[in-house]
Amino acid sequence: MAYLGNPKHTIAVLQKYNFSFQKKFGQNFLIDPHVLDKIISAAQIQKDDFVLEIGPGIGTMTQYLCEHAREVAAVEIDKNLIPILEETLKEYHNVEVIHQDILKMDLAALVKEKNEGKPIKVVANLPYYITTPIIMGLFESNVPIEKITVMVQKEVADRMQSGPGGKEYGALSLAVQYYAEPKIAANVPPNCFMPRPSVGSAVICLKRHKQPPVAVDDEKLLFSVIRASFQQRRKTLANGLNHAPDISLSKEQIQECIEAVGVPVNIRGEALTLTQFAELSNRIHRMAGA
Ligand code: SAM
Repeated sequence: MAYLGNPKHTIAVLQKYNFSFQKKFGQNFLIDPHVLDKIISAAQIQKDDFVLEIGPGIGTMTQYLCEHAREVAAVEIDKNLIPILEETLKEYHNVEVIHQDILKMDLAALVKEKNEGKPIKVVANLPYYITTPIIMGLFESNVPIEKITVMVQKEVADRMQSGPGGKEYGALSLAVQYYAEPKIAANVPPNCFMPRPSVGSAVICLKRHKQPPVAVDDEKLLFSVIRASFQQRRKTLANGLNHAPDISLSKEQIQECIEAVGVPVNIRGEALTLTQFAELSNRIHRMAGA
């Protein structure tokens, strides 16, 4: 078996098919077996797992996934990679390559068909240009997911894991932490990819909470409040909320809600925890409904 984690094999396959990398698809293929081992062990893949891989590329990580999991579905947008995947994965009978845009897929139907609707694991070296829509799409779709293990830009991994007060803390940290417990498993330098990306990367595990850690009356409003609070980082929380299109309270009412959470009225959004954001959004919800 010609494992593609070996860069020589990757180069041979690319040359055989005269493959040209497409920047618009965020194509940076892994060429380091140690990194592949780390991803597989961080993802805790077991023999009875069904794994969804997003963007298999030429199948480098897919080979590893097929060897560790019960079944793999690999969703790839680039039609030029489909014949390559047919060759590089021909020895595996537990994989289905799906030629599709991951953002347009009916994942609930896939999970129902392949895993009887039970929680799945997602593993990917993500195309960086759509990291946030992919991850938020997975969470918001309510598809049963146990764990997401993904390679992302290092800076994005830091933002996902960051807590209040830090400069990386923002809407993405709160959204991710509402759905999951993030943990960076490895930092990965550019020379582990072909071609080399211009930024550092990291593998992050997002273990989905069974229940969100906070109780909110209206999830959509929580995310509107969070987004509005970080829209302009240098503004106070009150000012940000005052300009939010879907919050219809007066300036005074917003100030009253903020004070009721027990924080100063001139506080900035970056100082609030998820629990405080949840309480604030519940107060706004109740005041707007009163
Ligand atoms: N998994 C491979 C590896 O590690 O070598 C390739 C990773 S590369 C960073 C990202 C892959 O995602 C590419 O193969 C790219 O064509 C694919 N891709 C980009 N946008 C996609 C989309 N919307 N849906 C599915 N696959 C996509």
